[in-house]
Amino acid sequence: MREFGYQRASDVAGAVALLGADPDTRFLGGGTNLVDLMKAGVERPARLVDIRELPLDQIESTPQGGLRIGATVTNGELAAHPEVRRRYPALAQAVLAGASGQLRNMATVGGNLLQRTRCGYFTDVTKPCNKRVPGSGCPAVGGEHHNHAILGASEHCVAVHPSDMAVALTAFDAVVSYETADGPGRLPLGEFYLPVGGTPHRETALPPGALITGVTLPPTPAAANSRYRKVRERASYAFAVGSVAAALDIRDGVVRDVRLALGAVASRPWRAVAAERVLTGAPAGADTYAAAADAELTAARPLPHNGYKVTLMRNLVVAVLTELAEEAAR
Ligand SMILES: Cc1cc2nc3c(=O)[nH]c(=O)nc-3n(C[C@H](O)[C@H](O)[C@H](O)COP(=O)(O)OP(=O)(O)OC[C@H]3O[C@@H](n4cnc5c(N)ncnc54)[C@H](O)[C@@H]3O)c2cc1C
Ligand code: SF4
Repeated sequence: MREFGYQRASDVAGAVALLGADPDTRFLGGGTNLVDLMKAGVERPARLVDIRELPLDQIESTPQGGLRIGATVTNGELAAHPEVRRRYPALAQAVLAGASGQLRNMATVGGNLLQRTRCGYFTDVTKPCNKRVPGSGCPAVGGEHHNHAILGASEHCVAVHPSDMAVALTAFDAVVSYETADGPGRLPLGEFYLPVGGTPHRETALPPGALITGVTLPPTPAAANSRYRKVRERASYAFAVGSVAAALDIRDGVVRDVRLALGAVASRPWRAVAAERVLTGAPAGADTYAAAADAELTAARPLPHNGYKVTLMRNLVVAVLTELAEEAAR
């Protein structure tokens, strides 16, 4: 690990000014991803600006009836918050499905959104990787890719986004707030992550030097009946091989409102728009849920060793929607 400078910021404007336009400086949240990448030589910042003492550690109700979550709220605090558990249970479940208790006590909301892919070639600096070194190639396409993308990938990169939390936030139309030297800005999560295309090294639409200040959840009555289900290779302490965040509102046997997002299938959390279209206004039931999953997964383009994810995701969507419908009927 090479030597680096360290500064602690005490207010938002100061943090943004300390980072400035210096491409060699990084914000430090919990450090649970950044420091690992520094040890591996993937990240080589000259300076870190520690943002953990910024006054961004609150979860508050908004006047509209949603929730505003500060960027330095830890994953542990987020999952334990009574209003998150009551109004957006899938979000609490998604956070608890990730990492370990110790890591969740360090990891922050802002850092979780910006964590990097777990593709083994990305973290191995002896290998080419378009995301790490643009133009160097993507060995995963013809190599190890059993946990890589089936949706929205390109020949330049087939990695998946690792966050569980971001999948639930995507289902609930969360909006990211940020601050730059030119003033504040907001990005709906659906626009926050960029399509992979030919530029896998450009992952988000955040302007250079932006500090994430928080995430706002709009009021979503359907979210009270929501669930996050994660499939992984070990029972704990493992990233998803596929996940679903869903909310369902059924009245008189008809789907009135639905939110559906898929995880570990694309370079970003995948909002299942085609499936939601099939579900909305349709009679609730296994046939409808299966038709919705199929509508979404017709766009899947699996690689030779990850075709299992198509079946897995279909079954997962049907299972989660069925469970939510049963719960709503009780
Ligand atoms: C063993 C292990 C298992 C894990 N398992 C899971 C899992 O199953 N599911 C899951 O979702 N995650 C998992 N994680 C990832 C973990 O959730 C992330 O490492 C964590 O959320 C990152 O948060 P952080 O605050 O530590 O970020 P940091 O490491 O501090 O930062 C990550 C990146 O975000 C930037 N950054 C941080 N905060 C801000 C901000 N406010 N504004 C702008 N930029 C910012 C940093 O500069 C850096 O580039 C695991 C991690 C480990 C080590
Ligand atoms: S899938 Fe993406 S992250 Fe993995 S080697 Fe290819 S370019 Fe790099």
